[in-house]
Amino acid sequence: MAGIYVHIPFCRHKCSYCDFVSFPDKVDYAEAYMACVYREMKKRSEELKNYTFDTVYFGGGTPSYIPPKLILGAMNQIRQCFKLAKDAEITLELNPGTVGESKIETYKKAGVNRFSIGLQTAIDSQLADLNRIHNARDYVYATKLLKGENFSTDVMLGLKNQTLDDIKKTIELAHACGSKHISMYALTVEDGTPIYTDYLNGELPDSDEVAQMYEYGCTLLKEKGYERYEISNFAVPGYESKHNLNYWKRGEYIGFGISASSFMQGKRFTNTFDLDEYMKCVISGFYPAVTSEEVSEEDAKFEFIMLALRTKYGVSMNEYKEKFGSTLGDDFPNALKKTVKYLELDGDRLKIKDEYLYVQNSVLMPFMEEERK
Ligand code: SF4
Repeated sequence: MAGIYVHIPFCRHKCSYCDFVSFPDKVDYAEAYMACVYREMKKRSEELKNYTFDTVYFGGGTPSYIPPKLILGAMNQIRQCFKLAKDAEITLELNPGTVGESKIETYKKAGVNRFSIGLQTAIDSQLADLNRIHNARDYVYATKLLKGENFSTDVMLGLKNQTLDDIKKTIELAHACGSKHISMYALTVEDGTPIYTDYLNGELPDSDEVAQMYEYGCTLLKEKGYERYEISNFAVPGYESKHNLNYWKRGEYIGFGISASSFMQGKRFTNTFDLDEYMKCVISGFYPAVTSEEVSEEDAKFEFIMLALRTKYGVSMNEYKEKFGSTLGDDFPNALKKTVKYLELDGDRLKIKDEYLYVQNSVLMPFMEEERK
């Protein structure tokens, strides 16, 4: 399985917690930028001609902020340059404050068959604190425009003044609007973002409170029929994100656009984070990747375990042996001993017990330490 990621780095304005590569004042560059993305695709087409891609993901930034004809153009270019599976999952991130009927029509024409909507919270005062451009009504409006299309909703935990009841309202709204998939994750406070001041002032919930919110959210989601298939991802069975599952299975993917990462043929590489540099580089006929590394066998083993243990499917012991020629017991005897209480074996699959998924980082630590020895 292989995926394509396209990064669209434009937003109407900057959210207070945002540390992503996104520009609030540069949407006038969108057409020139996308022309470079199309060129970058063309340049990669020859070397990737033997691949069939199963997923395409437009992320950002705010892909729904730029003119939709540029998304249509990107899909036309993808189809011209690469082989796409017939049933490819094509996802576009959608900001509820940026959509209208004709945009959705163009996305559908482009073949987009899955939307990821950044609701974050159904409480308008919290959306205003986050400096988001939408309110809860915009979310409802956006989901109505989708007229039954498959969509996912982002829900954030750990917000200023957020209560368990607010989380309930948010999940209930997403469910009532027909969201088949919910990504529920904790706010990450990045140094230098405006929300960092709230953090320093002690105005954000502490880690125990966030853990409680997560537990509460998990219970609610289960009641509503969403199954947890990864620590932050919940879906009505059959609606799991193929694109993300490919990441967690350590599948290959190619990224286009500024800051996009790729993992192809055992190599990881990442494009420049500088918009001017990206455009100059592509126009001059060069690849815009600024870092590239061959993944060592030891790193590959650890990545395989770490990614698989994030999911409810766990690590397949047979697959591990087929890939690496050794067993998990051969490579990580001490880590397995140290983490035995957190793990369970289900047939051929080693999994983190449900109740410990939230603290998976500490479960993974002994594997990381053993890999480094
Ligand atoms: S919409 Fe997303 S990418 Fe854009 S500023 Fe807000 S958090 Fe950042």
